[in-house]
Amino acid sequence: MAKKVIRLSTREKLSNSTTSSTPMTVTLKAYAKDGSDITDTVFAPNGFMKVDAKYDAGAYQNWKASDWPKTYQNPTYKNMFAAGIAFAPPHLISKPMKSVNGTPINPTPPRTGMPSAMMGKAIAQSVVDMMANGATEPTHTASMAEMGAACVASAGKGLFTGTAAAMTVYPIIPDFEKYPGVGRDMNGTTGELGLAAHWVKHILHHLFLYKAKLKPGWTLIPE
Ligand SMILES: Cc1cc2nc3c(=O)[nH]c(=O)nc-3n(C[C@H](O)[C@H](O)[C@H](O)COP(=O)(O)OP(=O)(O)OC[C@H]3O[C@@H](n4cnc5c(N)ncnc54)[C@H](O)[C@@H]3O)c2cc1C
Repeated sequence: MAKKVIRLSTREKLSNSTTSSTPMTVTLKAYAKDGSDITDTVFAPNGFMKVDAKYDAGAYQNWKASDWPKTYQNPTYKNMFAAGIAFAPPHLISKPMKSVNGTPINPTPPRTGMPSAMMGKAIAQSVVDMMANGATEPTHTASMAEMGAACVASAGKGLFTGTAAAMTVYPIIPDFEKYPGVGRDMNGTTGELGLAAHWVKHILHHLFLYKAKLKPGWTLIPE
């Protein structure tokens, strides 16, 4: 195992004016035991942590679903993992486009609640196996190219007058080798607007709060 990182320091430069076009930047610095700066080894230039992704895929034509990370382990420091927002994606999620006005449309991966939780769970299970059960490599995976996502967006409340948009997508990262054409399994990719979705949102709201409080049976509630 590579030498352990002992110190992390955060230097946040917040260009937080809402009128400024300068994006907010957060710079996380990392230092090795001997004090040497290992920031470039740990983090990608965009400030997110490098994990087991393929970062040298190059142009859009070369992008593959398999470029996306599975274990979220840093390739150099095997004791470091990054889930959810923290990991550096290999590239955009789908083809970069431009609006008719020339505004770039760069679709980034939706590292939202459900995928983040699934990554975190896989990492936690791997860490347990590596620390307590003698595993030398991560034992669990959670690739966004192999998982689906569901989103329910409220658009009005009321037991009988409410409405919401319910969407599912599978897989999150398009896989054009497995699903030629659109890159997605159309049996698992849907969208509906209506009252039932509002009820689902309401039920999920209470289920997730119940789960967050670790009440009896919380493990049965999915991410
Ligand atoms: C307004 C809003 C609405 C959203 N709605 C939805 C939704 O309906 N459904 C959905 O799936 N997703 C939703 N998301 C997205 C979802 O919240 C995030 O994708 C998800 O929380 C990412 O999880 P994460 O663990 O990567 O990061 P976070 O949940 O942001 O967790 C990071 C944690 O690290 C802590 N932290 C930061 N810096 C340090 C430090 N230096 N030391 C120690 N701790 C630190 C933070 O305090 C935080 O607790 C929403 C996000 C926003 C902002």
